[in-house]
Amino acid sequence: MALKFQTTLRGAAFLDPFSGFQPRRVTVEVRRDPLFGDTSRILPFRRRDLGSVDHTVFLKRDRPDKCPFCPERLERYAARFLPDLVPEGHLTLGQAVCFPNAFPYEALNAVVVMSRAHYLRPSQLIPDVLADALWLSRRAFRRLGRGLRYGSVNWNYMMPAGAGLVHPHFQVAGGRAPTRAQAVMRARARAYARGRDGASLAADYLAAEKRAGQRYVGRSGPWHWLSAFAPRGLFDFIALAPNTESLLSMRRAGVDALARGISRVINYLEDQGVGAFNLALHTGLVKGSGLPLVVRLVSRVDIPPMGVDEINYFHRLHDECLTFVPPEEAAADLAAGWEGKYADNT
Ligand SMILES: [Zn+2]
Repeated sequence: MALKFQTTLRGAAFLDPFSGFQPRRVTVEVRRDPLFGDTSRILPFRRRDLGSVDHTVFLKRDRPDKCPFCPERLERYAARFLPDLVPEGHLTLGQAVCFPNAFPYEALNAVVVMSRAHYLRPSQLIPDVLADALWLSRRAFRRLGRGLRYGSVNWNYMMPAGAGLVHPHFQVAGGRAPTRAQAVMRARARAYARGRDGASLAADYLAAEKRAGQRYVGRSGPWHWLSAFAPRGLFDFIALAPNTESLLSMRRAGVDALARGISRVINYLEDQGVGAFNLALHTGLVKGSGLPLVVRLVSRVDIPPMGVDEINYFHRLHDECLTFVPPEEAAADLAAGWEGKYADNT
């Protein structure tokens, strides 16, 4: 398997009602990503302003006096781990609390409530809060992940991204089999390593993106941040740490650095009017799992003025994504503030 960032162009022509029905030709880029296997179409001619982040409607529906994740109610409403696994019931670190998901979908499935605060804007989710929540997720894998091979730390931030509660929380999942996205990455990494003396697809992918320079954003410790070549949303950022095998082999300093990077990305997204996003950190849980250590953070926008979901039939039923934000523009914007504007609260 070759490391190929494939782009094909598709042209379309029509008489344009917005310019007196003059003939107009537009070009769509179709991209295939060599690490994730995604196919995406870039439509820069449709770029729109997303306005500013406004969570008022969600804060009215999900008030702190009813929230099961607020500190006054968490002890009463949160599930507890079985006593032989975690005699204390919950795992805690700083403000973060980890407990079993009462609606599990994996062998290991836990919730990590990040903060005592009910609501935090993206820019208020400071690296210290994120770092403790990530480190506690790592502890959950260490303590409860015996016999499991593939893990993920996941985040639905706010309702348009699938969150059931405003209160910020991760979902930690670990299983014996990879998820579909993990299986694709793993298979691609293995196919690439074959015949190349075990070369790392993630490392070579990153090296190619650094050379190209157009989508490389910057570093946070061992993590390198990119704007995805074939995005899964309007905005899609990826972090790779090719010299670290898994979250479990990463030290605290590496996890702190990841938190700083996430904080910068979500600060930038808030600046762009993105008030909801999904994050997944993929990690092997055993040596030689073959799964690259990857973080992916994707916007989940309702496009104004109609509140149109950025996910439509194309994504849902054709497994391809559309974006009107060229990844190269997003990379340049974020890179410009990586050490400054977006690093201010780090
Ligand atoms: Zn709450």
